[in-house]
Amino acid sequence: MFNKHASDRVDCGDDHWCDVLIVGSGAGGLATAITARMAGLDVLVVEKAPVFGGTTAVSGGYVWIPGNSLAAKAGVEDDIDNCRRYLQAELGNAYDEALIETYLARGLEMIDFFMNEVGIPFISTKMPDYHSNQPGALTYGRSLQVEPVNARILGAELRRLRPLPRELSLFGMGISSGSDLSHFYKVGRSVRSTIRVASLLLKYGYDTVRYGRGQTLVNGNALVARLASALFRLRTPLWTFAPATELILENGRVTGAIVNRNGRLVRVRTRRAVVLSSGGFAQNTERRSKIYSHPALEGEHISLTAPGNVGDGARMAESAGGYVTSDIPNAGAWMPISRVPHPDGTVGAIIHSVNQGKPGVIAVLRNGRRFADESMSYHDLVARMIASPESGRPTGAFLICDHNAFSKYGLGYAKPFLSTRALIDAGYLYKAESIAAIASQIGVDPDELGKTVANYNENAMSGKDSEFGKGTTTYGYYLGDASNPHNPNVAPLTKAPFYAVWVYAGDIGNFAGLKADQYSRVLTPGGSVVSGLYVVGNDRASIFCGRYPGGGALIGPAMTFGFIAARHIANNAPNAH
Ligand SMILES: Cc1cc2nc3c(=O)[nH]c(=O)nc-3n(C[C@H](O)[C@H](O)[C@H](O)COP(=O)(O)OP(=O)(O)OC[C@H]3O[C@@H](n4cnc5c(N)ncnc54)[C@H](O)[C@@H]3O)c2cc1C
Repeated sequence: MFNKHASDRVDCGDDHWCDVLIVGSGAGGLATAITARMAGLDVLVVEKAPVFGGTTAVSGGYVWIPGNSLAAKAGVEDDIDNCRRYLQAELGNAYDEALIETYLARGLEMIDFFMNEVGIPFISTKMPDYHSNQPGALTYGRSLQVEPVNARILGAELRRLRPLPRELSLFGMGISSGSDLSHFYKVGRSVRSTIRVASLLLKYGYDTVRYGRGQTLVNGNALVARLASALFRLRTPLWTFAPATELILENGRVTGAIVNRNGRLVRVRTRRAVVLSSGGFAQNTERRSKIYSHPALEGEHISLTAPGNVGDGARMAESAGGYVTSDIPNAGAWMPISRVPHPDGTVGAIIHSVNQGKPGVIAVLRNGRRFADESMSYHDLVARMIASPESGRPTGAFLICDHNAFSKYGLGYAKPFLSTRALIDAGYLYKAESIAAIASQIGVDPDELGKTVANYNENAMSGKDSEFGKGTTTYGYYLGDASNPHNPNVAPLTKAPFYAVWVYAGDIGNFAGLKADQYSRVLTPGGSVVSGLYVVGNDRASIFCGRYPGGGALIGPAMTFGFIAARHIANNAPNAH
């Protein structure tokens, strides 16, 4: 199984020694690196891209840590028994006691370590657990974020921070999903929100004129900036343009990796361990189309993960005896995503996680029928899409709304306060004066869509959704619009024009991944440990086995198991060389 002298095949210019080599600079890699460095280890982080931060840098930056100390301070009653009850209900037979108990105990420790010893200010948010009807669910308290931060925290390193794509920002300005997003949805309808948005835009305009870019970093950008800044303060090298390409294996143990640093091969030798945190395989069409249960070839699926997340970690671990588990119901962290064509010929993508739950918005399959409560979590909505035999190929659905909804919330990349002409011409947005006409435009049977909308409207007038019970959960309310009469998630589609956008069954990460134990050590199919090799973040199989219990269920485990890996590496004997 082991290739004894893999490194001998490679003609390397240099050797570089360290205690721990960390492959990838997202939340998993950075949390591991900081913890290892603070335990006194000599750490090197290598990053394939020219910028650091990976998917984490463009994420919402939520970190799901049940029972955290901030919730208690915010007056939320939660304890480990309650968290355990929730996760048992969520995971059922997939509940792995060793992994979940470790997560529950060490997640709290991880957050306290980063707050108190590293100085990262996490804050409580109002995000509810995604299945608020399950026993042990909380209406808020488990999903944390970091406070927004001034870009100056990174000094000259700011140029290496992965920037936000334009679709996930407003003219380049990040919008805090925790505190500010709801204000943007209420512009012109609430004085407080309008003032808040105006002040954010003014500050952004001022910063852009003065510094050439916005200075307030939010969400995942702020999380990465704060983590990277801590890493640099600890004088830890982070090489960008430096993919790890293969592991060095000696006498049945991983003792380093070959790194292509700016085109020059370096043999990085580790005294203790290599930690894989290369963000998973969601950009690898071949691997994902084998593992995902819906067709996910090029053009059929959109992953919003970092472009370099093509499964290098999985490939390298497999060469050392590790394996990818895919026996879970949802191999990806699903997200409805639309493909956005820009006038300059480039193509971007935008998530619909909030838009999907607004009143006056429905989702229909190609057969013109609704298939789920649109205000359930994005992961669950797409799981329903995938499970539906009617979803077709590529797997996806149309989001449809009327003028009332569009004028308040927009639809994906189409904003109510901007011209929609270019998006209509590019085939992104459909717009028509009647439901029958929009059905014809999107290739759906007008009679079926007519029936769907008529059925929906009948009860929606009084705020009810008799078919799927939309607007009956705490999470749904959180996505909705509290000012909408009768129900935050339900309004009829009555006022022309009507709009539609196609959303793919996309992903924001993979849940299938390398099998690892509670210390984050890579395991072989026989259950033994691959010596000297650890895995964290999306390279590793999710401890939630394809379930998505709350906002931050990817970054929470990524940071926690990174923290655990680093402590385990520090407390165990180095390699014998
Ligand atoms: C729009 C969006 C919003 C999201 N919001 C949230 C949220 O709020 N909370 C949450 O929990 N999750 C969220 N997610 C998912 C979450 O961001 C990711 O699951 C998580 O950040 C993955 O962290 P990671 O460290 O495993 O990988 P990443 O952050 O992707 O980092 C991996 C890095 O490894 C690098 N790499 C790849 N191969 C190599 C190699 N061979 N050598 C060196 N480097 C390599 C990549 O270039 C990349 O920079 C969101 C995702 C998206 C797209």
